[in-house]
Amino acid sequence: MAPHFPVNKFSTNGQEPSDYDRQAVMITNQIGMEEKSQQLDEDFAVVEPKDEECAVERLHHLTKIVTEFQDHLRERASNQLGHPGNHNCSHYLALSTLLQYNINNVGDPFKESNYGLHTKKFEVSVLDWFAQLWGIDKDEYWGYVTNGGTEGNLHGILMGRELLPNGILYTSQESHYSMLKIARMYRMDCETIASLATGEMDCNDLQDKLLMNKDRPAIINVTIGTTFKGAVDDLDLVVQTLIDSGFSDNQFYIHCDAAMSGLVVPFLKQVTKFTFKKPIGSVSISGHKFLGCPMPCGVLLTRRKYIKLISRNIEYIATCDSTIAGSRNGHSPIFMWYVLNIKGWKGLKQDVEKCLKNARYLRHHLKKAGISSMLNETSVTVVFERPQDSEFIRHWQLQCLGSMAHVVVMPHVTIEMLDRFLYDLIRKRNIWHGTLHPPCLAEDMGICNCACPVHARKHMN
Ligand SMILES: *Cc1c(COP(=O)(O)O)cnc(C)c1O
Repeated sequence: MAPHFPVNKFSTNGQEPSDYDRQAVMITNQIGMEEKSQQLDEDFAVVEPKDEECAVERLHHLTKIVTEFQDHLRERASNQLGHPGNHNCSHYLALSTLLQYNINNVGDPFKESNYGLHTKKFEVSVLDWFAQLWGIDKDEYWGYVTNGGTEGNLHGILMGRELLPNGILYTSQESHYSMLKIARMYRMDCETIASLATGEMDCNDLQDKLLMNKDRPAIINVTIGTTFKGAVDDLDLVVQTLIDSGFSDNQFYIHCDAAMSGLVVPFLKQVTKFTFKKPIGSVSISGHKFLGCPMPCGVLLTRRKYIKLISRNIEYIATCDSTIAGSRNGHSPIFMWYVLNIKGWKGLKQDVEKCLKNARYLRHHLKKAGISSMLNETSVTVVFERPQDSEFIRHWQLQCLGSMAHVVVMPHVTIEMLDRFLYDLIRKRNIWHGTLHPPCLAEDMGICNCACPVHARKHMN
């Protein structure tokens, strides 16, 4: 039988215990750190069933481990602030009976394959919903439910490259790491564009680099919600820059990476509108981030007229291969369909408004406490001075970059959570810095957001 461990036994082994989990400290003191790690590994091992062990006993044992793991997940979700995932997932329990079917949406969503257990009807309904959101008619678009933002980016950039084989990929330095990976995978020449302090693409730099490469087509990645600062690139300005630099319609392709904020910006008035009415070729949106599907997924939309470029008939699955993956998750489309039906446009808008309000609450209190911080107007990502304590970072599951960290205020993040976080941060920060001055973050987030002694005097009132 598995011994009883505190909830954080499922974390990476060998980590120092903290005051967040006194039980862990107790256990560690009892058995010692090394011994604990070893025992935990054994707990998770795949073990050959013993002959003398009856099946019921074994199931009981496995269920116990899974139940304890669930406690761990509950605790981790209640302190999850740094990653852009929505953890309000309990409504999906209604779909748990679907787990007894091996569902697979292999191939093109608009064409049935010879595999009968699929959710393509749900998938197409989800795509229709997103197509409407992105202003493209039913018979004009093509798309599919992906395995996440990266797969959508892979598909969008592939489309751009097939249309413009000699094209150069332009992407900002704040764009997602998948972009540079894609450039490597596809062996594309890539120009990295500088960004402003807000995290937005610097279109002056874009223009300079376009003009240096006037003889080759441009494949541009526009990020809608950058990974670290939640910045939204200005699509209209990008298009204008292309025109000003002498690129005509058939010399550029724009892919929108909306993994992060694709379900935030459509509800805001203060941004340029993202729509296929403008000269974009594709968009990738995540389903597990703001929408909160419990498994990685997303949506890729493009123009129907482009898809023949990459689609191939495959005889033995009796459908077209037009997606990056072969076998595709058949559960995620129905999960997306379910949550879109539960929330509707109105419910999603309420989520967005709540998150913006909560993000502003956090930013206000950080600023009040004299902590360097920034929040873009159209974003739910609050960037602030990097905490000095790795245990604090682990506990709140923060993402850090250089001297910055961020909190992504997703729908599961409540004011109560933010208050706990602020209390913890402000109390510990006194210990980290003591009488030392906090660092200057003017270069990272702009002078007006910096609370170092030099800049604070000028701006923090
Ligand atoms: C999260 C994210 C991605 C990647 O999404 P995955 O689902 O992790 O593949 C791509 N771009 C941006 C801007 C993101 O925030």
